[in-house]
Amino acid sequence: MSDGYDADLALFVGGSWRLGEGRDAHIVVDPATGDAIGEVPLATAADLDEALAASAAAWPLWRDTPAEARAAILHKAAALIRERTEAIAQLLTREQGKPLVEARGEVAGTAAIFDWCAEEATRIYGRVLVRPPGQRSVVLRQPVGPVAAFSPWNFPVYLMAKKMAPALAAGCTVIAKPPEETPACTGAVMRCLADAGLPSGVAQLVHGVPDTISRHLIASPVIRKVSFTGSVPVGKHLMKLAADGLKRVTMELGGHAPVLVFDDCDLDATLDLVVPQKFRNAGQVCVSPTRFYVQDAIYERFVTGFAERTRAVTTGSGLDAATKMGPLANIRRPQAIAALVDDARTHGARVMAGGERGDGGFFFQPTLLADVPDSAAIMSNEPFGPVAVAARFSDLDDALIKANRLPYGLAAFAFTQNGRRANLLGDQIEAGMVGINTFAIGGLDSPFGGIKDSGFGSEGGPEGFDAFLVTKAVHQA
Ligand code: NAD
Repeated sequence: MSDGYDADLALFVGGSWRLGEGRDAHIVVDPATGDAIGEVPLATAADLDEALAASAAAWPLWRDTPAEARAAILHKAAALIRERTEAIAQLLTREQGKPLVEARGEVAGTAAIFDWCAEEATRIYGRVLVRPPGQRSVVLRQPVGPVAAFSPWNFPVYLMAKKMAPALAAGCTVIAKPPEETPACTGAVMRCLADAGLPSGVAQLVHGVPDTISRHLIASPVIRKVSFTGSVPVGKHLMKLAADGLKRVTMELGGHAPVLVFDDCDLDATLDLVVPQKFRNAGQVCVSPTRFYVQDAIYERFVTGFAERTRAVTTGSGLDAATKMGPLANIRRPQAIAALVDDARTHGARVMAGGERGDGGFFFQPTLLADVPDSAAIMSNEPFGPVAVAARFSDLDDALIKANRLPYGLAAFAFTQNGRRANLLGDQIEAGMVGINTFAIGGLDSPFGGIKDSGFGSEGGPEGFDAFLVTKAVHQA
């Protein structure tokens, strides 16, 4: 439909690309304009059954492929992703809206995941138990089997890779359902895997109505593992579906990250760090810093400095080099955020910057709300957009109560120069990941995941492989 936008708008099943051919289609929209730019075919029940059959057939072959051979294909895919960075990044920005510089960074991160997991494939060690001479007892770690992977639209290629790369490296086959918003960039990454020589049926891509696809795949006895990244309600729904077949699940769900700013921090340096971080990917990040609790003595200076920097964030099309923040990914986000901001206003919040939807496309202004009471919905519901909320705290105990008051427990951050306080925060904040004086919590070698309603299971690090492995004890007398 739109120039330069027609790459791999197709299903990838059993090693072949499937176009419309009478299938229903989903309209892909450019979030910077709201215009339709393409049509992606939706998988039929027959497509899904063929994908399941191909996954089941490919699994024993892929499982028994030597780890070095699996790793070589994944390294080759990583190299192809790097070679095709510009093309993939352009598709990503057209579909999702983020600035091109962020899209290029996401593609680089995607390639890095495939490389890291390729190397880790050769280090899936088991254990040898202590037994009398002549006897042998070993604990093996083996691939769980075919995986159904559901990834979201905020980092469409990176988060798909966070599921696919460890699954494939571990020896599992994968049927991935990418998000409706971003079929072409995810298809382009799948093309890299296919071109790298991944055997037919080992990794497949099925587009479609999420509920139709997930019900069909999860109900199949072929699927042994379900991995989902998205919202808490959908995660709970998929867990219920998985329970019927006692399938293992990994759930990377939402968050509402608190940021505790103590009065001993370097205020300007902290603001220079936190404001760009808040508006990265227009705030559509599960670990986005959102609830800023600031110690009384610096509260007013903090919100004033935050508001000044917020007003300086340039918004526009992600294809424009001057843009620091693009549109939101779909029409649901500006609508949901506008409702939360209006509710906060009626609860007495001060709008320090932004607060309104933008013109054309799915824009919302970079926004700071100060003095937001806990009774405002935005203090409990994840905005998943470019809105920061600020409130005061008095001391460490008060800060911890506020940080831990929600059922979410994904990421939390704190800024302080006091070492003992930093240690206490690391110990006592209820979150799967804590950043102290940093937002760098996503290293490839580090587990990434939540606790409480934010889910369980890790993506990243050796822990990320556990999701795709089962243990088996073999005893020999
Ligand atoms: P949503 O709950 O409608 O969908 C979230 C994701 O789940 C989408 O990618 C969607 O394709 C998928 N999905 C929805 N129903 C599904 C089903 N029945 N089976 C399988 N997949 C299904 O929410 P949304 O409006 O797209 O996104 C907003 C919310 O999603 C945010 O509030 C945020 O909490 C959450 N989210 C979280 C992450 C994350 O990284 N943890 C990423 C994206 C969205």
